[in-house]
Amino acid sequence: MIRISNVKFHPKDVPEDFRTYVEELTGFKNILFFRIAKKSIDARKKENITVQYVFDVILGDDENQAVAECPYKDVAVMAPQEQYQQLSWRPTKALRPVIIGTGPAGMMAGLALARAGANPILIERGKTVSKRRKDVKLFWETGELNENSNVQFGEGGAGAFSDGKLTTGIKKDCWTQRVLEEFVWAGAPEEILYLGKPHIGTDNLSYMVGNLRRKILNLGGEYRFETRLIDLILKDGRLIGVKVVNAEGEIEEIAVDSVILAIGHSARDTFEMLYNKGLQMIQKPFSIGARIEHPQRFINKSQYGVVKPRRILGAADYKLAVHMENGRSLYTFCMCPGGTVVAAASEAGRLVTNGMSEYARNKTNANSALLVDVTPADFGSDHPLAGVEFQRRIEARGGIA
Ligand SMILES: Cc1cc2nc3c(=O)[nH]c(=O)nc-3n(C[C@H](O)[C@H](O)[C@H](O)COP(=O)(O)OP(=O)(O)OC[C@H]3O[C@@H](n4cnc5c(N)ncnc54)[C@H](O)[C@@H]3O)c2cc1C
Repeated sequence: MIRISNVKFHPKDVPEDFRTYVEELTGFKNILFFRIAKKSIDARKKENITVQYVFDVILGDDENQAVAECPYKDVAVMAPQEQYQQLSWRPTKALRPVIIGTGPAGMMAGLALARAGANPILIERGKTVSKRRKDVKLFWETGELNENSNVQFGEGGAGAFSDGKLTTGIKKDCWTQRVLEEFVWAGAPEEILYLGKPHIGTDNLSYMVGNLRRKILNLGGEYRFETRLIDLILKDGRLIGVKVVNAEGEIEEIAVDSVILAIGHSARDTFEMLYNKGLQMIQKPFSIGARIEHPQRFINKSQYGVVKPRRILGAADYKLAVHMENGRSLYTFCMCPGGTVVAAASEAGRLVTNGMSEYARNKTNANSALLVDVTPADFGSDHPLAGVEFQRRIEARGGIA
């Protein structure tokens, strides 16, 4: 495969037919396979904004020779890529693996294990995504919170109401690529495979989550909704079962030898149970902050120099960071162009906000989290769960004073 890098266009000159453009640019005649490998926008200079592309091709001819003869110099034959290896599951294992939580982590674990023939059981305290949407709507309209079915809890986890910005600090490898491919299969826009800043949109996520569930079920997995993990059963220091309770209050013990706790970062009652059970836990630093909102046209003007950018550029985003004299860092995070600020509590009487945007990113305002880092020194106790209490105090006050 040959990679053709650093192909730049002015936003008004982006061609409709990239393949023909690349044929002319490189002189490659016998292209058997063609794809956009990456698209990004360079808006560092407002007077010279460019849309940048990387393309991959496979030729029917000798690729080394074609590269040597190519008039365009940013071309190279690629080294073979690492391939995603399907998980293997020892068929001798009698017990089915159990996954607690059906957020992005739980769904991907479920998919990998179901594919491997392990028939996983997925346990979720909240409801299916469609029932959950009704509870979230009620909360947003009336403030009435269901503590097991909300913006954090339910099928799809916090991911179902997320913005679907596919941010990762991990380098783009075959695992990341695999997750993106699963998302596209489930209905995400195909462009997430190559965009520099891929975005799915809250509106697309609900049906994607349902499609992923149907795939896991077809592959032999099982879902149990409105069922909460309440205890681990240990014998001689080894896990032999989990205790769960369903919506009717019926308690069930499931024998296990493998459990994945994909419970996210809001299941405070479950963290407490795990701590009391003797699981080793340590304090860790994190960030706290508030949501800031600006008119999107203001961000567009500031980044692109125009209030209404060309369609190919989309609504502008931003990222800011400052290191302050007191040693703390202040930064923006999870910026949602053309999005909405949403109430996202999972405990009654507490204020939590987050941001999301639909695929079109066409709402009037942009929003972003404005965060500051906090460390265990701020928590006021060395108890492993002191960070949770620190969060609770701020949320109960209704924000940061
Ligand atoms: C509005 C919003 C916007 C966001 N936007 C983005 C974004 O654009 N990009 C991004 O990268 N991230 C975003 N995030 C964060 C992202 O959603 C989370 O980081 C991600 O969902 C974490 O995935 P997870 O699977 O680890 O946990 P979660 O998604 O939190 O899922 C955990 C699941 O476990 C279940 N659970 C917990 N305890 C139990 C129990 N005891 N028994 C049974 N089930 C249990 C919960 O109900 C939940 O469904 C956003 C979050 C929100 C709320």
